Amino acid sequence: MKTNVSILSGFNRKAAAAILVSTYDHNHQPVRLLLDAGGNLEGFDDKGWKIPTDLDAVLISHDHHDHIGGLKDLPQSVPVFATEQVQAYLPKHLDLRVLPHSGQICVAGITVTTGGAGHSYGGVWIHLKVADGIFYSGDFCAESELFPFEQPPPAKTALLDASYGLYDRFQTQAKQDILNALSNDKPNLMPVPQSGRALEMALWFDSQNLYGWVLGSDCLQPSDILQASDTLICSARSHQAKMICDRDFRDDAHIILCGDPEGFSGDAGRLLQQTERYNVIYTGHLPAHARSAVANNTAHFVRWNVHPTTTHLALLIEQLQCEQCVPLFCPLDEVSLWRQSLGNCILATPQLEL
Ligand SMILES: [Zn+2]
Repeated sequence: MKTNVSILSGFNRKAAAAILVSTYDHNHQPVRLLLDAGGNLEGFDDKGWKIPTDLDAVLISHDHHDHIGGLKDLPQSVPVFATEQVQAYLPKHLDLRVLPHSGQICVAGITVTTGGAGHSYGGVWIHLKVADGIFYSGDFCAESELFPFEQPPPAKTALLDASYGLYDRFQTQAKQDILNALSNDKPNLMPVPQSGRALEMALWFDSQNLYGWVLGSDCLQPSDILQASDTLICSARSHQAKMICDRDFRDDAHIILCGDPEGFSGDAGRLLQQTERYNVIYTGHLPAHARSAVANNTAHFVRWNVHPTTTHLALLIEQLQCEQCVPLFCPLDEVSLWRQSLGNCILATPQLEL
């Protein structure tokens, strides 16, 4: 019996994540699982894809808008599996079930293995034990000093975050660029994901003897990670967090780390109303207003790696021993370049029959 993978959104461009896996359980009963249910990255209501019918479950990799923003349209009858850390950010009408952060669970008769994806608090990669293994990375990063990336089991088919395309600039270089972009005259405003790099950057600034940072009140705080297991938080950083007190948010701090990362809402959205007060530094995805601010030199863009470099994609492909791999969330117009860098396993198709 065939397994079909259909990338409903996130193929050939940076867009909401939504992948439908149609397969069969060991009793030959059909099973339909949706991997992530993303929302529009430009802040529009239209997520760009439709919720499939007859879903048995939705599995969520992590709590960023482009992976969960479509859940508001999901009927309550479909169970949603997400880690406890991620559930806090999900719509309240849903039928939520616990996905382990690092372990195994049976969902609709399918064995699902998860592990830390190195990208955000409680964020996971997802491995389905069907068709000799289907691995979906969610968003992943092998360079985080806060969030561990766990070694996944082998999989014949891999769907990998490649949000940066073929890009091989390492985090050590990015960190130097960020130090160079900081202003000493104005407060530095950095819109960041609240459960993602906000705290990672705060702890890194602290390690650079730059103590004048504050975090938005809805960001993960140092006190939140003191008891976290070492599959959730790298132990060196939870030790560091023990030496740091949570601090009050201030609009005039030297370094302001706050959400949302696109600057639409929250503290970042509010402070960007007075953009002339701040040295604005974006470090992630740039929506249209941020792109034009960077083009007009009223904001900086310095990428802080939260997605894989080409080197780390190649390493993961080797670890998975996959025979076919579809890069996600990036243009794939020049497949030959991808194959030169990552091998002939690279496929540029949104539909797979396994
Ligand atoms: Zn993400």
